[in-house]
Amino acid sequence: MDNKIHAVVIIGTGFGGLSAAISLRKKGINDFLMLERRSFAGGTWLQNTYPGAAVDVYSPLYSLSGHPYPWSHLFAKQNEIAAYTLDIIKQHSLNELIQLNKTVKEAKWENDFWRITLSNNEQVLSKIVINATGPLSTPVVPEFANIDKFKGAHFHCNDWQHNVDLGNKTVAIIGSGASAVQIIPAIVKKVKELHVVQRTPHWILPRPDLSIPIFLRNFFALAPIYNLIRWLAYWLLELRVIAFKYSETLLNLVGKRPALRHLKRQVKSHKLREKLTPEFIIGCKRILISNTYYPALQRVNCTLHDSHDHIVEFTAKGIRFEKSGEINLDVVIFATGYNAVDAMISYSVIGKNGRKLSCQWQEYPRAYLGTSMPNFPNYFVVTGPNTGIGHTSAIFVIESQLTYIMHCIHEIIGNKALAIEPSEIAESEYTTMIHREMSKTVWSYGQCTSWYQNAQGKVIAMFPGFTFTFLRMCKAFKPHHHIIKR
Ligand SMILES: Cc1cc2nc3c(=O)[nH]c(=O)nc-3n(C[C@H](O)[C@H](O)[C@H](O)COP(=O)(O)OP(=O)(O)OC[C@H]3O[C@@H](n4cnc5c(N)ncnc54)[C@H](O)[C@@H]3O)c2cc1C
Repeated sequence: MDNKIHAVVIIGTGFGGLSAAISLRKKGINDFLMLERRSFAGGTWLQNTYPGAAVDVYSPLYSLSGHPYPWSHLFAKQNEIAAYTLDIIKQHSLNELIQLNKTVKEAKWENDFWRITLSNNEQVLSKIVINATGPLSTPVVPEFANIDKFKGAHFHCNDWQHNVDLGNKTVAIIGSGASAVQIIPAIVKKVKELHVVQRTPHWILPRPDLSIPIFLRNFFALAPIYNLIRWLAYWLLELRVIAFKYSETLLNLVGKRPALRHLKRQVKSHKLREKLTPEFIIGCKRILISNTYYPALQRVNCTLHDSHDHIVEFTAKGIRFEKSGEINLDVVIFATGYNAVDAMISYSVIGKNGRKLSCQWQEYPRAYLGTSMPNFPNYFVVTGPNTGIGHTSAIFVIESQLTYIMHCIHEIIGNKALAIEPSEIAESEYTTMIHREMSKTVWSYGQCTSWYQNAQGKVIAMFPGFTFTFLRMCKAFKPHHHIIKR
């Protein structure tokens, strides 16, 4: 351990960590480190290499502001977003600040600075911590009976095993959410048999993807053109909030009806359509987009096991289903999502007077602007509680949070404050407002369970409004909402 107290330590190197690093650099702050638990930097799009992985928000909007890119598709595929991420790291020479294979296991406030302990017990000291460990970074596999008995290859799609050849194999994929909907069409032609295990069907809309001709890519990446496209895409998507929050009629008109039409157009069998029609209100879970999922499900080598034919147990050779009995399998793929609630911060955080964040969040995670917490001075959470969105780019929210974080950092580094934290009352009023507004949204009344909620059904992942409202709040720094120690 060196005893140097860094100005800032960023934990995580996805778009959250990279945006933080770029913001610091812009302010002339170069005394910072980035800690990354993996052996490579870049987060989501370097980690999720499963077949078919792609973004579901228009790429010019799903990119960092001021960093245009000549995308080949309107919805970029994983390899292109990974290349974009690495390009950002290179452009800003961040590699020299990134320390790989450094898993943070604890952050403890020591009155003036944070003591960060890594899994190898190495320690790093910092005045300020920006946590950017990602909302969807810790995969989850539900507890199935006898799961350990299965002898075949099995893995979570977050950690795709490229050495496992699926060619001519009998494969099961557990899950029918955002990742499964991308993986199934990408592998169905390759495998001998594909068993899709669906707990709940999702609402699916057509995917209006476009391949961008090579000669136009650089033109679209010119800053004024790119910004115009971003602006148009932003406002088009932002309109969805009206439906999510203010009008179920509009939600049916622009969501449910086109989704049902899409299902009817692509699936001729009434029986299969029934199995694929969700019972919850559209928007309650993330709306998926795909033109290839329904056709893939109808291929002769594909079998859908819905909730009436659920998994009874795993066996050494495969899975025993309620109705279909035991099916022998070579490979099982878990597309079963992430722990977005308990894993919001993947290590122990101890604030003033030994206060644990897990205790403060015992009832549910909460933070001022989804970013800072009383009793945890100089500590900021990117993609914290209630900063998720179901309609637009997560990067917009990340960058909004960073405008607030940079205001706070200016108090410490620019105005020489010792510490800053939001007051209990400011955080409490903000959280009350968030949950009051949340009750008007489809995420609350939509009759579904989703990763947006905690075990008690409280929606702790989503921001219940327009993202421009969130940005406005983040920009308007309110010193009187904070305790600033000088
Ligand atoms: C498959 C998938 C598809 C997605 N598609 C979209 C989409 O279409 N549109 C959209 O808006 N959003 C999408 N998202 C959400 C996505 O999480 C965000 O868009 C964004 O990438 C989040 O960036 P991040 O930096 O906050 O998190 P991440 O990219 O997850 O980065 C977090 C980093 O922190 C590191 N880390 C975690 N814990 C520790 C620790 N204890 N110590 C050190 N390092 C640690 C991780 O290893 C990781 O590298 C998707 C997510 C997934 C998983």
